[in-house]
Amino acid sequence: MNTPFTERPATERHVLPYGSIEVIAGCMFSGKTEELIRRLRRSQIAKQRVEIFKPIIDDRYSATEVVSHSQHRIESRVVKHSSEIVALAQDADVIGVDEAQFFDDGIVEICEKLANEGKRVIVAGLDLDYRGKPFGPMPNLMAVAEYVTKTMAVCMQSGLPASRTQRMTNSHELVVVGHGDQYEARHRAFYESPIEE
Ligand code: ADP
Ligand code: MG
Repeated sequence: MNTPFTERPATERHVLPYGSIEVIAGCMFSGKTEELIRRLRRSQIAKQRVEIFKPIIDDRYSATEVVSHSQHRIESRVVKHSSEIVALAQDADVIGVDEAQFFDDGIVEICEKLANEGKRVIVAGLDLDYRGKPFGPMPNLMAVAEYVTKTMAVCMQSGLPASRTQRMTNSHELVVVGHGDQYEARHRAFYESPIEE
């Protein structure tokens, strides 16, 4: 039996009874990172041990922090491969992952393993790439998650809710990590599919 809440010292961290996976998915500027940081901050308020990971490819703004477009930030660890997360997350109650679309497919099994060990895993990432195609491991992460939140931005053409990321340059590379000027959030009706070569 767990100690009843009333008998616990106020400084004791509130341990989670069971694990789960939450996914926050949407286009660029839709507030995924803000929402991830919001949930993780609340875990920190509950004195749970939080570890945050992001793939090395995302070097925007800060190497050791996850930073939103609105300058909200939280300390994070940069990892090259999803397999590094298991050892680094061993003592954590809550695990945050940002830019999950850039991780290798192994991230799915690792999130499952951590959730099965009783940890709360919160994953944020782009659901679609600039071509409007499902991005990396995100479809599988959404499938195994208990909770999926779809976030939307504001369409820069219409002011409508935006679910697509329009690339504003002619690059055909899948990954062009950039700032606001290279991408625009668009409603489906205002999204122009890039011409395939
Ligand atoms: P994401 O992680 O989904 O790319 P962030 O959480 O980093 O998004 O940033 C969301 C913030 O971006 C918003 O709160 C707002 O301040 C800013 N922003 C800039 N352009 C847009 C847009 N077109 N729609 C909504 N928010 C935008
Ligand atoms: Mg983000």
